[in-house]
Amino acid sequence: MKKYILAIDQGTTSSRAIIFDKNEKIVGIAQKEFTQYFPQSGWVEHDPQEIWESQLAVTRQVIEENEIDAEEIEAIGITNQRETTVVWNKYTGKAIYNAIVWQDKRTAPICEELKKQKMEPYIRKNTGLVADSYFSGTKITWILDWVAVNRPDIKPQDLCFGTIDTWLIWNLTAGKVHATDFSNASRTMIFNINTLEWDKKMMKALSIPQNILPEVRSSSGNFGVTDGKWFGAEIPIRGVAGDQQAALFGQKCFEKGMAKNTYGTGCFMLMNTGETPIYSKSGLLTTIAWAKNGKLTYALEGSVFNAGAAIQWLRDGLKIIETAQDSEYFARKVPDSDGVVVVPAFSGLGAPYWDMYARGGIFGITRRTNKYHIIRATLDSLAYQTRDILEAMENDAETALSTLRVDGGATANSLLMQFQSDILGKTVERAQNKECTALGAAYLAGLFTGFWKKEDLESVSAFHTFQPALDTETRTQKYKRWKKAVEKCKDWEND
Ligand code: ADP
Repeated sequence: MKKYILAIDQGTTSSRAIIFDKNEKIVGIAQKEFTQYFPQSGWVEHDPQEIWESQLAVTRQVIEENEIDAEEIEAIGITNQRETTVVWNKYTGKAIYNAIVWQDKRTAPICEELKKQKMEPYIRKNTGLVADSYFSGTKITWILDWVAVNRPDIKPQDLCFGTIDTWLIWNLTAGKVHATDFSNASRTMIFNINTLEWDKKMMKALSIPQNILPEVRSSSGNFGVTDGKWFGAEIPIRGVAGDQQAALFGQKCFEKGMAKNTYGTGCFMLMNTGETPIYSKSGLLTTIAWAKNGKLTYALEGSVFNAGAAIQWLRDGLKIIETAQDSEYFARKVPDSDGVVVVPAFSGLGAPYWDMYARGGIFGITRRTNKYHIIRATLDSLAYQTRDILEAMENDAETALSTLRVDGGATANSLLMQFQSDILGKTVERAQNKECTALGAAYLAGLFTGFWKKEDLESVSAFHTFQPALDTETRTQKYKRWKKAVEKCKDWEND
């Protein structure tokens, strides 16, 4: 009777719904893009109503197009763009301001203020994060300040805050459930990842009242049922996780020490660090991976700002390729980069260097260098940056990884994946199922209801495997050159 799990994948640029069957196979996908608003330089907003309506539309579409009866769906799992902040009126259910998106930098001054108050060590220790506008906390403060000035008729106790998961759950349950999961809560900068409660000191520092905050529940757990009016039957919501954590789960990195890297515009690497939080010496983030069966799993997270973005630069800036896919074709025209190193530090360097004054560079050019070498070296830079993060993570976690699981758009590039394996000296496993994020949300829901057993999931391993083929000496020499190039890029803009 119950044949499917439905994953809701609410991303930064589109809303998607995917139906999986018991064999983890995709039965159907529907997707819809929505509007991005850039009201001022550095500001990024979404319309929460458009997010909800697009999500509802694609969910209905995938059910109808595949002639599925809502009764046949065992449960829904939700995964979402993280940190993006919505505040709405709990009586009308209407958002009082647009969603402030994770990329939005308007609250940088509030973060500066926190730093001035010497809150950084507290933030690091208790939330696992750094004082940055990226996270939800300062975005909530900004919206509440806006309300105080522009809508003095609305009282703070009339409001609800939520990340996108919470906003969707609220709407799906027709206002019955105001909840989030531990992974999303851990991205707000107001959630204490040790006591597992909303952090009073952070709430005070950011002037956020407790009553607007959602209840925090297990990622694999009960989030109510969808209201009958949406899909013709009530569907239980049983899984919730932020996109990167969901991808870690979807990659089946269930055990401590397992890691995945997602290659999109940027790279996001997460390592499962088990039941205790590990604090980084290199500025990686400490975050909650998920909560399941009353047990919490933590992760270390590191990101590369410019990964696929460097390939976009080849396409749109240098115009030496027409599509991202072309990068592989042209890079294969030369046996290697012939000593050329590209450092795509377009907007500074992130972990483990943390130098906002760094800028990019192309090094080692000779009269022999041609565009294929530049393309190849740019692809190489994704692999080198991944090694930088992975080494920092291994150091922090005091474990050596044997295998890196990978997913995301740029993993379609087999030349890059082979070089990644070469430069790490480790096995790289590319997931056959491209939808790791949605799959993670589906697993969280399906494991909770018993639709799947953990053993069933672990027994299926559909990966394309890349093995290192470079000798140790060459690997060491190449990586040393990369490090040397990075050194030359540092502090460039700081005159
Ligand atoms: P996002 O979710 O960040 O939009 P995707 O997972 O859709 O990212 O991946 C798109 C990114 O991957 C783009 O930046 C693009 O330049 C890069 N990309 C896509 N295909 C390839 C490829 N074959 N080789 C190298 N890079 C690629």
